[in-house]
Amino acid sequence: KFITLEGGEGVGKSTNLRFITQWLDARGIDFVQTREPGGTPLAEQLRTLLLEKRDEAVDPTAELLMVFAARAQHLSRVILPALAAGKWVVCDRFTDATYAYQGGGRGLDRALIGELEQTVQGDLRPDRVLLLDLDPVIGLQRAASTGEADRFESEQQVFFEKVRAAYRERAEAAPSRYAVIDAAKSLPEVQQQLAQVLEAIAAA
Ligand code: C5P
Repeated sequence: KFITLEGGEGVGKSTNLRFITQWLDARGIDFVQTREPGGTPLAEQLRTLLLEKRDEAVDPTAELLMVFAARAQHLSRVILPALAAGKWVVCDRFTDATYAYQGGGRGLDRALIGELEQTVQGDLRPDRVLLLDLDPVIGLQRAASTGEADRFESEQQVFFEKVRAAYRERAEAAPSRYAVIDAAKSLPEVQQQLAQVLEAIAAA
């Protein structure tokens, strides 16, 4: 099974990722935990280049191609071998983040993203996307209190409104592949929802 965790800034991705991996450990499920952009040494280098604050304005198409370059490497070196070995793959962000950030946020054409998706992934899609959905006003407040700002965190609220809208639009278009979780709820409530979704994935 290939599951991805998605959401904007400050939605609680890291905390909930720990909950997911503990849940899988408790079940004795063999899994690989990884992240995007990143997941291999080369892809992590591309991540650093993408996230670093820099004086030079980054062309959105350059950003898009770097994300997909990292993804191609990550897929062939990590994700596909793990799936072929029968393991679960739990990935912190994947192509939905590209539709949300480079598509929604940067305004790049969805059809272009779709073409790159098909070229890089073929027909591989996550079995389930866990989307932590939160009003960016709350998310940005939470993110601000956790320190380390990257190039994206200096974006304005309107950027993150677009990111959220793009995520939700994708979830609405294919509800069977998404679990939209209300991240404004308390942590125990969010994790109860996550456990239900994981249960359903494990049973499928
Ligand atoms: O998952 P994490 O929050 O660590 O991601 C780091 C940053 O990378 C995020 O701030 C997000 O804005 C950015 N990102 C992006 N486009 C992607 C994936 C991540 O802009 N496709």
